[in-house]
Amino acid sequence: MAAIVRRRTPTTLVGRIPVGSGHPVVVQSMTNTDTADVSATVLQVAALAGAGSELVRVTVNNDEAAAAVPRIVEELDRIGIGVPIVGDFHYNGHLLLTRHPECARALAKYRINPGNVGGKRHDEHFRAIVEVALANDKPVRIGVNWGSLDQALLTAMMDSNAVSPRPADARTVTMEAMVASALQSAAFAESVGMGHDRIILSAKVSGVQDLVDVYRMLAARCDYPLHLGLTEAGLGTKGVVASTAGLAILLQEGIGDTIRVSLTPVPGGDRAEEVRVAQQILQSLDIRSFTPQVTSCPGCGRTTSTFFQQMALDIGDYLREQMPVWRSERPGVEEMKVAVMGCVVNGPGESKHANIGISLPGTFEEPTAPVYVDGRLAVTLRGDTIVPEFLAILERYVREHYGVGGPAARQAVASAERPVRA
Ligand code: SF4
Repeated sequence: MAAIVRRRTPTTLVGRIPVGSGHPVVVQSMTNTDTADVSATVLQVAALAGAGSELVRVTVNNDEAAAAVPRIVEELDRIGIGVPIVGDFHYNGHLLLTRHPECARALAKYRINPGNVGGKRHDEHFRAIVEVALANDKPVRIGVNWGSLDQALLTAMMDSNAVSPRPADARTVTMEAMVASALQSAAFAESVGMGHDRIILSAKVSGVQDLVDVYRMLAARCDYPLHLGLTEAGLGTKGVVASTAGLAILLQEGIGDTIRVSLTPVPGGDRAEEVRVAQQILQSLDIRSFTPQVTSCPGCGRTTSTFFQQMALDIGDYLREQMPVWRSERPGVEEMKVAVMGCVVNGPGESKHANIGISLPGTFEEPTAPVYVDGRLAVTLRGDTIVPEFLAILERYVREHYGVGGPAARQAVASAERPVRA
């Protein structure tokens, strides 16, 4: 794992999940179902949790949604899914949490957006939410978003900047206003009685450079755990790359204790993609491991067939499919590296760096596929059964190395028990 020194924070317990620098960076996600639709929301939460989301947020926007929350949590418990559910409140959180005490009890954390907690009655409504959180012993996330930034605060800061001898540009004042909104709201929550270790902060923006700047400022001015995420990251490649670019810079600097990747799914698309992207960001940075990694070459003119591309895909799918079972039965397997290479140019070399690697024959090469296990040539496969034979070798390797009590399992347990550098 990478020697990243995390910014030191207290630990905030969200349900059973600890969030803070003494613990692994937590992956979270959010549903896009109508929360009032209990079965659709349960199904999606189950899919997100199954993909590895350690916290799942649901929108709580009206009485129907608030009434559905305890039923959702109950149903999830019944089917054995204990992922903590976080409630996302805007505008009417104080009313919903007061009118629906079962909802307030069932949620593991409340997200408060200080930019839309009630205009002139901001403090009164904010206080009401915090008081419900205190009564139910729940932590809160104070989540500032520049799309809904506290306008009174922003205007006051813009006005004061305008008369300053050296006025800053509007972007800088906006970033400062976001940080001020988060910190002032946290101080207010503490003045109402919320413990310092019961508050997580976020300050989301949709531009990568803005995200980096605002979180650096926030990180330097407080020690609350930080929830990172690029808001409205967007669709497809743009959303994935922009989120990765922003989050990677901050995580590398030790900033960030829980992350969410806010992708816009294509209609009917898989919501769990945001979980896989978040995990892959952490795994690519060597911060956490979730799934065995497949190293595969891009292919080139030396490989005229798509055989090795399909094989890399099949192996990746196979590993992902096994993970729900392996996660509990084969501790340490998530650290495994598998190489699938298109020809002899880099194939054997890359294969030697992996736990298991196969180098497929390129054009005009002898139709053989050497397989390397722990850096040594183990066998050379030939013919039409290369894929099943390779998968059988892979399965045997996992059984022998990652079985409970095996060498990799012992090492995984030891690293999990080692304190995280903070
Ligand atoms: S390993 Fe071979 S097939 Fe793959 S990109 Fe390199 S030269 Fe091309």
